[in-house]
Amino acid sequence: MPSAGRGNQGAVMTGQWQEQVSLKPYNTFGIDVKARYFSQAKDDLQVRQALDAAQQQGIPVLVIGGGSNLLLTRDVDALVLHVSSQGRHVVSDDGERVLVEAEAGEAWHPFVQWTLAQGFCGLENLSLIPGTVGAAPMQNVGAYGVEIKDVFAGLTALDRKTGDVCDFALADCAFGYRDSVFKRNPGRWLILRVRFALSRTLQARLDYGPVRQRLAEQGTTALTAQAISDAICSIRREKLPDPAELGNAGSFFKNPVVAAQVFERIRTQHPGVIAYPQADGQVKLAAGWLIEQAGWKGYREGDAGVHRLQSLVLVNYGQASGAQMHALARRIQVDILERFGVELEMEPNLY
Ligand code: FAD
Ligand code: NAP
Repeated sequence: MPSAGRGNQGAVMTGQWQEQVSLKPYNTFGIDVKARYFSQAKDDLQVRQALDAAQQQGIPVLVIGGGSNLLLTRDVDALVLHVSSQGRHVVSDDGERVLVEAEAGEAWHPFVQWTLAQGFCGLENLSLIPGTVGAAPMQNVGAYGVEIKDVFAGLTALDRKTGDVCDFALADCAFGYRDSVFKRNPGRWLILRVRFALSRTLQARLDYGPVRQRLAEQGTTALTAQAISDAICSIRREKLPDPAELGNAGSFFKNPVVAAQVFERIRTQHPGVIAYPQADGQVKLAAGWLIEQAGWKGYREGDAGVHRLQSLVLVNYGQASGAQMHALARRIQVDILERFGVELEMEPNLY
């Protein structure tokens, strides 16, 4: 169980809230819906003040970071609280193992680059993921064979139900594939800061996709965490749309994990299916492959579409509404279920 203690009680302050604010700049899909109220929280006190004020007035609260894992399907009749706390520091360092802590509002990729610049290894495979440090534990962010659970040392969160400030250890977080106790209990905990156990010695994880090949192409002779990060950044820049240019929330569906018999049935009908056996005997199917086989790659309907290079990424060409993006996602889900008998689960958080 997380350990708890009560922090300072904040005074009620709604005067600083803006009203009817467009959320377009605050979500990477670029969906233009309005927040009834909007406020920033730069530290724990401002977080608590905003939550207390909202609670006293019966106003729901939607917490956001970088808005890169959200699909907003309607105006948000709530206070949208943008967590923008800054700060990162070394908590302890024994010459080999290093504990670092970062505030929730820190942007993820610059934080990763900061750890690499200090000579700390562990986060290199998670380079160039958009969003904030505080949201990263929500879905146990993962890429290229590493998830934050692999380097997680703890986090501090405010329990919105009780007002307690709680420390979570690894075992408290129930991290799974794009999953955590925080994602399963939406709105319960507001993550304030996160700690990572890093190391001065590199334990390279190079088995995913084209990472090894890209390192060779880069002419990398000395394998460093920074070189791995550079390789991964260059692959990602080639393959994934930049939200600043084309609205998206990364992978829109999780890769489905199915029973071995289901996989065998699909493989009989589709010998080229891309799949990865799991330790528990189940098989992870590449959702992007299923979607591409079904003919959706590059599909466009109005401004809602499927990316031309990566079928797992839905894109907003400009004016698509969240409802249109959601309708396209639903059509893809139905089609994949009919063709392959596999249910695709949406990854972004829907509002
Ligand atoms: P937001 O979208 O703002 O919020 C996501 C959820 O977390 C919401 O439910 C929100 O209420 C909640 N939340 C936000 N901040 C807090 C907080 N401080 N406390 C409690 N709850 C909070 N994801 C991966 O796992 N791997 C990838 O490789 C990856 N690549 C991506 C590539 C692109 C181009 C894009 C657009 C997205 C990608 N993502 C990836 C998804 C996304 O970037 C991550 O999930 C990221 O951690 C979301 O952070 P955010 O700050 O933008 O969260
Ligand atoms: P990719 O290399 O084209 O691979 C397709 C899928 O196959 C990936 O989703 C990955 O699963 C899986 N995969 C590939 N190699 C694997 C291996 N050796 N062992 C087990 N599974 C393997 O994928 P991509 O789209 O370019 O993405 C590269 C990485 O970045 C992936 O880890 C992906 O999850 C991550 N990413 C995530 C998001 C997001 O929004 N969540 C967006 C972009 C990229 P996993 O997804 O389970 O890793």
